[in-house]
Amino acid sequence: MDANQRATSPRRAANETLSPAGVRRLWKALEHHLQLKGYQVVVRRLEPSRCGFTQHPEKLVVISDRLNDVQAVARLAHETGHVYLHAAIDEATAEEPPAVREIEAELFAYNVLSFNGVKPGSEPFEHINRWAESVEPQTPEHVVERLLDRTKKTTRSLRASVARHMNDHPSSVEPHSSRDNFSHLAPDCDGPVF
Ligand SMILES: [Zn+2]
Repeated sequence: MDANQRATSPRRAANETLSPAGVRRLWKALEHHLQLKGYQVVVRRLEPSRCGFTQHPEKLVVISDRLNDVQAVARLAHETGHVYLHAAIDEATAEEPPAVREIEAELFAYNVLSFNGVKPGSEPFEHINRWAESVEPQTPEHVVERLLDRTKKTTRSLRASVARHMNDHPSSVEPHSSRDNFSHLAPDCDGPVF
């Protein structure tokens, strides 16, 4: 991030996080950007080990209904990364391993979330490190650096667009959000699954 971006960033102080209403606005903003790509977001019961997934042929993003609001928006950001970075990639013929795409989606999510006021905690780093070590055991940091660089243009564009949408929709509590019927069950997410 350069100095100019920092000056205009909507990010809050490091110890501050979005209010529950802010998290909901972020969910709506991400959902809006998925809809722009033709994707539908569905919240439904998944097996406990799964927090969410994307089916590109069906243009469908599914998020587990077991997650709390912050976990759910973090997972939605991860899946948004898959849509904006990987929709054109055929998993069956992809040259790079799935771990590369998981790192990119998680870096994307971390960037979009932190830029818009959500502190993701240390969990993303643990996932990113594990995946990077599976790609390049000796120099995982090189993998992360390379993937961060090649995804930064898309990530920066999307995070700014999401921020604009949140600012333009300050009280986004429309009645038909995909999480309106969310039931607050105990979260049991154990991180992204690929
Ligand atoms: Zn993923």
